[in-house]
Amino acid sequence: MRIFLLLVLATVVSRADEIWLGESMARLGFSNNAPVREGQEERFERSNPRAVVVAERDKESITINGIQVDMERAVRAKAFKVKGQPDVIRLTIERCDYEKILVPLLWGPPAGSRRPLRIVLDPGHGGKDSGTVNPALNLQEKNLTLDLAKRLAVLLQQSGHEVLLTRSTDTFVELGDRTKFANQVKADLFLSLHFNAGPINRAAGTETYWLTPGGQHSTKDSANAGTVGQLPGNTYDALNINLAYEMQRALITSLGSTDRGTRRARWVVLKDLQCPGVLIESAFLSDATEARIYTQDAARQRLAQIIAAGVAAYEAKLRR
Ligand SMILES: [Zn+2]
Repeated sequence: MRIFLLLVLATVVSRADEIWLGESMARLGFSNNAPVREGQEERFERSNPRAVVVAERDKESITINGIQVDMERAVRAKAFKVKGQPDVIRLTIERCDYEKILVPLLWGPPAGSRRPLRIVLDPGHGGKDSGTVNPALNLQEKNLTLDLAKRLAVLLQQSGHEVLLTRSTDTFVELGDRTKFANQVKADLFLSLHFNAGPINRAAGTETYWLTPGGQHSTKDSANAGTVGQLPGNTYDALNINLAYEMQRALITSLGSTDRGTRRARWVVLKDLQCPGVLIESAFLSDATEARIYTQDAARQRLAQIIAAGVAAYEAKLRR
């Protein structure tokens, strides 16, 4: 009887779009080590043979196998009421984060998703648009992204893909034309390659972006919440998050760089895609240490291998 009462009450949270994290995880098969704990629940950890999920109160991201995934809204603490007993503080998440992040990542991509054969690589910037620059090291983002794309193309061809580039020379290509090209050639997958910029020597690490789901807000952009509805690229939300997560995981585990998150944004090159796609910011050219690494051919080749491994990890998830 006590257990029944707990289950009934557990589904009642004041806002309809807010759900108990423990309940959500139980639904995803993470119930085996999930006792209701007394007192303040600040940190939440659940595991099954495939994943360890950690959530912390007031954080706008969750970690899955140690990789940071940004969410629509921070994890919150709420009083969990059981009649005749003192309240227990437990964590809640937004229902849309359960549906758009936890379900596709922990249950895997939709059944029947086929392996991408034709991959379009998009070397960021080009021509009059140099992207970010590091004058001290004589580095321009447009040159690094093109070099990286060419190296990556060879590797992906070796693993049986057809690879096309949105530019193969130092030319300027409009953002919208990059997406149009991918759609015209009927790409199965789109990877936009970039290097990041921030306050000089004060920002470093790796970010992978997927298209923000319709009606939700992008990473660090809560002011824009709900102002943008469903975009064509949102057809692939469940695949996009899997691709972004596997890419970020490959990059972070192999590069050992700072994990700045599996992030959400409505980049122009992602929003009208008719296939899954992500935008990768491998490292900061504004950071002397990170930038110096990529002056070396061997480091760029290794980065290409890691991104190819990220694609392979995504494909392995499609087969499960
Ligand atoms: Zn860029």
